Formats: sequence, structure tokens, C-alpha cells
Amino acid sequence: YEAKKYKNSVRFFASSMQEGYLNRVSLEQTLRQALNKQELYMVYQPQMDHYGVMYGVEALVRWQSEELGLVPPDKFIPVAEASGLMPKLGDFIMRRTLEEMKTFQEEMGTSFQVSLNISIKQFMEATFLEKLTHEIENVRLSNLVLCLEITESLFIEDIDYLLPLLQKIRAMGLYISMDDFGTGYSSLSILRKLPVDELKIDKSFVDTLLEDITAEKMVQNIITIGKNLDLAILAEGVETKEQEEKLKSLGCDRFQGYLYAKPLPYEALKSFVQAQK
Ligand code: C2E
Ligand code: MG
Ligand code: MG
Ligand code: MG
Repeated sequence: YEAKKYKNSVRFFASSMQEGYLNRVSLEQTLRQALNKQELYMVYQPQMDHYGVMYGVEALVRWQSEELGLVPPDKFIPVAEASGLMPKLGDFIMRRTLEEMKTFQEEMGTSFQVSLNISIKQFMEATFLEKLTHEIENVRLSNLVLCLEITESLFIEDIDYLLPLLQKIRAMGLYISMDDFGTGYSSLSILRKLPVDELKIDKSFVDTLLEDITAEKMVQNIITIGKNLDLAILAEGVETKEQEEKLKSLGCDRFQGYLYAKPLPYEALKSFVQAQK
């Protein structure tokens, strides 16, 4: 099922699971325990500017399960969402990320922008803004630069609820990024109305950019639209120098992918930043 996207983890995943165990209920129970067993942790993938300098990281959650091996987030986040576990998981992700950014600043004397993925359910929770404010105040990071990554499919949610919420988040000094851009069905008129700072070109376009003229045209259009709206354009899943060069020639100004670094656990991120200096 996920063999294409997760070549490395799927073998681990499938071999350690009995057929049929892979149902939502048992995965849900195991995930519930995982939160208490401290099997969840964060990794951070560097984001590079036009000159190849790291300006930020994307925080990505990982689950190293005793029973199941490394479970990909694409697998357990939908389960958390469907089972009502997402608020708890989302709280963990937000808190742990901010704590580690704080420690990073204390240990390394530098800080950078951090992007957090917020699932739609989490974002539409009535207490989301309250929690976010609380966590930010709690961490006391003087120069925190926080960006929220929200998927394009959020656009189909209630715009009258969404617009003031996004405006409040922006007023708090946070940035907003549209994740997986180009894969959803948003209309341009909505994009114009919403306060967004960045468009994140989905990996699927980057993957086929060099072979497929349609993908190239899509990327060109996304960049043109984004630039006209004064948005930053970030390409995700950049794996080769050729992809980077093509993206640069099309006007892309931010890059993230295995070409620069894989998502790194806290200690490895420290080494990466040290090596960059
Ligand atoms: P996403 O937010 O679009 O994240 C990008 C995914 O692409 C990440 O997968 C990342 O590891 C992967 N990636 C980045 N560069 C490359 C590359 O050059 N090559 C390849 N093959 N892959 C690359 P990951 O970490 O498995 O996350 C998958 C999805 O799960 C994320 O997509 C996001 O939607 C969700 N997710 C992950 N962490 C969190 C989280 O903390 N909270 C929420 N709500 N969702 C999360
Ligand atoms: Mg993301
Ligand atoms: Mg993305
Ligand atoms: Mg994506």
C-alpha cells in the first residue's frame, strides 16, 4: 500500500505486523500507548534559501514503535484524526518542537524559523488558538519565528471561520504556509483573500519536473501566481542539483529536500548547523 512512498519503512512495518492486525482499532490503541511510552519524537528538515543557506526547519513527527517498527506519519496521523487522538498528539508535537528549539538556542546561541504541520482537524478545533498562544508564552523564546503549514484542502473549510482565525495568527507574528500546493482544488480567488505567506510546491511536481512538461508548466504557474501575490515559494522534495537548477530558473526561492538534508533528529540537526558555519 505505501510501498512506493516509504520504501525503507514499509518492509519493517509489514514484517513486524500480523496480517489483519493492521486495523484502525489496534493501531489506535498502540498509538495511544505510544504517547505514554515516549515512542514519539520530532525530526527537523532544513530549509534553504536561494544561496544555499539554511534559514529554517520543518518539524516532522516520528513514531518508533516497539511492536510495529518505524510507522510513517502518513499512516498514523489519519488514525489519530479519526479516533480523536489528534488534539493530544498535536499538543505533544507543538510542545516538544518549541522545547527543542529553546534548548537549541541555549546550546548553540542561534535560532531559526521553525515550521509546524497543523492538520485540518487540529486547526479547526475550538481551542486551537488558545493552546497555541499558551505554548508560545510558556516556552519564552525571545526570537521565535514560527510558521504553520496547513494543507491546501483546508481551503474547502468554512471561509468565514477560517479568515479571522488566520488573521489572528498572522497578528501574533506567525507565518502561514500552504503545504502540498497544487494537489488540491482551491480557487485562485480564495488564495487572494486568505492571509498566506508561502506556497509550498508539492513533491509530486518536483519529482516529475524534468521529464514532464505538464509538471513544469504547473510549477511555472504556481510560481507566477505566488509571485504576483507577493508570496515566498518553497519547493519540497528536491533531490538533485538538476531539479534545483530548474526550479531556480523558474523563480523558486526556497528549497527543501534530501539534496540538502533528510529530516534530522535533534543532535544531528546540531551537527548540521555546526558544519554549515
Ligand atoms: P509534508 O508536510 O508534505 O512533509 C514532507 C514529506 O516529504 C516528509 O515526509 C519528508 O520527510 C518528505 N521529504 C522531504 N524531502 C524529501 C526528499 O527529498 N525525498 C523524499 N522522498 N521525501 C522527502 P514525512 O516526514 O514522512 O511526512 C509525511 C506527511 O505526514 C507530511 O507531509 C505531513 O502531511 C504529515 N506529517 C508529518 N509530521 C507531521 C506533524 O508533526 N503534524 C502533522 N499534522 N502532520 C505531519
Ligand atoms: Mg509540511
Ligand atoms: Mg509538504
Ligand atoms: Mg507533500
